[in-house]
Amino acid sequence: MEFVQFHPTGMVWPPSVKGILVTESVRGDGGVLRNSDGKRFMFEYIPDVFKDKYADNEDEADRWYTDQGNNRRPPELLPRDEVARAINSEVKAGRGSPHGGVFLDVSSRLPAEEIIRRLPSMHHQFKELADVDITKEPMEVGPTCHYVMGGVEVEPDTAASSVAGLFACGEVAGGMHGSNRLGGNSLSDLLVFGRRAGAGACAYVDSQADKAPVIAESDVDAASRRAVAVFEGGEAGAQENPYSVHTQLQQTMNDLVGIIRRGGEVEQALVALEELKGRARNIVVEGHRQFNPGWHLALDLRNMLLVSECVAKAALLRTESRGGHTREDHPGMDADWRKQLLVCAVNTAGDGVDVNSKDQIPLRPDLMGLFEYSELAKYFTPGELADIPAKES
Ligand SMILES: Cc1cc2nc3c(=O)[nH]c(=O)nc-3n(C[C@H](O)[C@H](O)[C@H](O)COP(=O)(O)OP(=O)(O)OC[C@H]3O[C@@H](n4cnc5c(N)ncnc54)[C@H](O)[C@@H]3O)c2cc1C
Repeated sequence: MEFVQFHPTGMVWPPSVKGILVTESVRGDGGVLRNSDGKRFMFEYIPDVFKDKYADNEDEADRWYTDQGNNRRPPELLPRDEVARAINSEVKAGRGSPHGGVFLDVSSRLPAEEIIRRLPSMHHQFKELADVDITKEPMEVGPTCHYVMGGVEVEPDTAASSVAGLFACGEVAGGMHGSNRLGGNSLSDLLVFGRRAGAGACAYVDSQADKAPVIAESDVDAASRRAVAVFEGGEAGAQENPYSVHTQLQQTMNDLVGIIRRGGEVEQALVALEELKGRARNIVVEGHRQFNPGWHLALDLRNMLLVSECVAKAALLRTESRGGHTREDHPGMDADWRKQLLVCAVNTAGDGVDVNSKDQIPLRPDLMGLFEYSELAKYFTPGELADIPAKES
């Protein structure tokens, strides 16, 4: 659950649209990222492993748009997490835009009619939602939470979870994308594992034909009592509003368990989460049961708090940086951590999360052999590489 992917470019202003995605095509079509000094800062953030593939100067980067064969790619097109971390660093260094992002500039790079032709939806989105004309001025963008690599542990061939009769596929399931999903791979995941989950559920139902599971009435009563308890009111003076608990939860996770994590900050987040759990027990909802978003949020908050605790506890335990998990106090990848999964489960009291380490099942050698050896050499120790068969062709 510690592996959370941030997309580098979401809208940062106005607050009502914060987080809405700004497509990668803006950068693919020539848009560049600048800080408050007007500097195209991504050249400062090219990691060593990518130095041979990305241009280290503006002239070469700009030539790439018309001649991809003879020039290296602009660093604005580095992997998502690299760009997200770079933006985060610029903002933290005080070189951000007025609303806490950086500038994504396409207006000085392409003629207005070309921008409208190539990026019609972005032109429309910024005009309608932020009153910004992207043919005349830069956009303000910043990293936004995009995808959770972790999720429900499932059996890969049937998508069966450890709860009998419960199947999970898609983003809610975990494990498919390792520590960092590649662009486009969610949709292929949905197609492949959606089918497997459907087939797995059908086979399960057939196998259970004459022994349908029995649900205890007491469990149903307890669930419904818990669901409506928020209408009854907590202790006098301690009544909480679900929206303020939700906002505080978002802010805590954003500030303390965000793109770049530090052990001390994650510990602070865990203290804050305990306080928020206490406040959530005193939530009071007004109104009726018919379409009541405050009630729905109150019901969801219990799960949001548990998921946040999973992310924070696993992020604190994983003392390395890998994929979507970056620890400033543990910046490198650690070969021992590669072999470990952190498995979260609700504790026996039902009010918190336990995290246990489990051995990662190694990738099958024949599948490992499909990767380019030179690429693997960047991520594995020589001892580990010796176990990997070389690619045949
Ligand atoms: C802006 C954006 C752009 C993306 N672009 C791409 C891309 O180009 N290519 C790619 O591969 N991936 C992309 N992704 C990722 C991909 O879209 C998602 O991972 C994928 O859509 C998840 O599908 P899903 O069916 O697993 O979950 P969802 O699409 O999230 O579906 C879950 C559904 O469950 C419903 N639900 C939730 N709780 C309850 C409840 N208690 N009761 C009943 N229903 C409930 C929700 O309302 C929702 O409809 C993008 C993601 C984002 C945010």
